Amino acid sequence: MIIEKLELGPFGSNCFIVGDESSKEGMVIDPGAEADRVLSRVKDLGLEIKFIVLTHGHMDHVGAVREAKEATGADIAIHTEDAESLQATNPMGMMLRLSLQAPPPPDRLLTDGDSIDIGALHFLVIHTPGHTLGGICLLGEGVAFTGDTLFNLSIGRSDMPGGDGRQLVDGIVTKLMVLPDDTIVYPGHGPDTTIGLERKWNPFLNI
Ligand SMILES: [Zn+2]
Ligand SMILES: [Zn+2]
Repeated sequence: MIIEKLELGPFGSNCFIVGDESSKEGMVIDPGAEADRVLSRVKDLGLEIKFIVLTHGHMDHVGAVREAKEATGADIAIHTEDAESLQATNPMGMMLRLSLQAPPPPDRLLTDGDSIDIGALHFLVIHTPGHTLGGICLLGEGVAFTGDTLFNLSIGRSDMPGGDGRQLVDGIVTKLMVLPDDTIVYPGHGPDTTIGLERKWNPFLNI
């Protein structure tokens, strides 16, 4: 599995380019800004991007979706309950609207239990609301892309519209902390971590 991380834009949002080495099919998770950087890396890797998957609708994760879509023709996928926020109605979107283009409407609406297939790779969509209504994590072989749900030794904020701190922790505990310790966690901001490390040290999870 190819996994490339790019830190993009003023909020240092993590974008991941994920690819299947044999078929060269790929997806881009959260192209938040700097479309040119994302697209040139995709080109270098020789990937055909099938999906642009959004862990949630906040502007710092979706700012380069329009350009990425136009360049790759990939399907934009986001959870049903965050689809509306793609139209830049959240506070961060309002703040940044002048400098970033609002994404086009999604092509595929995700719900809990869906699968995203990239060549021979399969990723399970799990719904983890609490940072936003339609926040998701993507689970692949030994890896979890957690958006702004779970960070290295922290969790996402829950004080923005649609946020709910209790729901956020519940989702992390019941859907992520059940994964094997050595699962690599790729969050929406900051450094990678593992499920085992978070289970042991994350101060926001009382488990
Ligand atoms: Zn967010
Ligand atoms: Zn974010």
